[in-house]
Amino acid sequence: MRSLSVEQLNLINSMANKHKAIALISGGLDSMLAVKVIQEQGIEVEGINFYTGFCVEGHTHAIRNQDKEKQKRNNALWVAEQLGIKLHIVDVIEEYKDVLINPKHGYGANMNPCLDCKIFMVNKAVDWIEEHHAQGFDFIITGEVIGQRPMSQLKAKMPIIAKQSGANDRLVRPLSAKNLEQTLPEREGWIVREKLYGFTGRSRKPQIELAKQFGFDDFATPAGGCCFLTDKSYSDKLTDLWQAKNAKEYELDDIMLLKVGRHVRPKANFKLIIARDSGECKFLEGYRKEFISIRALSHKGPMALVDGDIDEGDYDLAASIVARFGQGKFADEVELDINIPEQPSLQISTAPFANENMLQEWYL
Ligand code: SF4
Repeated sequence: MRSLSVEQLNLINSMANKHKAIALISGGLDSMLAVKVIQEQGIEVEGINFYTGFCVEGHTHAIRNQDKEKQKRNNALWVAEQLGIKLHIVDVIEEYKDVLINPKHGYGANMNPCLDCKIFMVNKAVDWIEEHHAQGFDFIITGEVIGQRPMSQLKAKMPIIAKQSGANDRLVRPLSAKNLEQTLPEREGWIVREKLYGFTGRSRKPQIELAKQFGFDDFATPAGGCCFLTDKSYSDKLTDLWQAKNAKEYELDDIMLLKVGRHVRPKANFKLIIARDSGECKFLEGYRKEFISIRALSHKGPMALVDGDIDEGDYDLAASIVARFGQGKFADEVELDINIPEQPSLQISTAPFANENMLQEWYL
């Protein structure tokens, strides 16, 4: 990675008479405010948003019937539009695997490797400004607030992110800057420290107050974090996936399917992904060419995928569980279709699975 000296940065930017910043944009309020604070100082900002595959928005909201009323917008793009900045959306699905599978700083309350994730993303932003230094980009901003999240936003963790990402003093956190060491843009006078903020803690009040001052009355406030990895149920399913594979590895389809349906593992060699509504049924239909799928014929019922190496001897068990979730739940017998990719499908009749205690134990 090529790193320019302060003198070189000053020379380049004094020729153009301006400095520019790249901002990590999650789509939430904090990054939106951080950009606005820097824009107010006359700095041109562009945004960067990293797609890891675990992002919350725009997936389940787009699929589940119960979320039909929710806005389907991509919040990162929407924030960029509100701020009038260009947004670069970068696919980091492959590179992110190592962050999640081998986090040097470990996981948070669930499978969220927040500290490694932040270091990774800021490091990608460092690469980006190195590649775009000719256009005047010379520092990075994030919406981090000291003490807001337990793992990555503790005051002691802020310098770790700056150092291990390689950003060092080119990383500015406009919302908490007054409680942190001076950064290069402050020292060099590109931005004025007094016009930055000193927010700390979990309360969102100062941010909401600042949003009002800037005239923002619509913004996303994601609960728990910006990705599925902070969610316990999702994390349990991811852990189960790795146990079943006997390896910590995944493909994009694996992690997408963890976001959808009820997951039931009756045996170590297979699990069922059972749609919870018609939206999820349609989504799972898209996987029928890759997975064995089961659906009731005699009664209305959900679509289910079979994930794993199911034995023929397990078909009856799998079909009886799927029958339990349809309108044939209380019938003596339900007829079901088992669709096997590139093979003739099977029709079987079975009694719906009735042992509720056992079923509860099999839920992931
Ligand atoms: S919540 Fe997810 S995207 Fe956000 S820092 Fe943690 S691991 Fe990364």
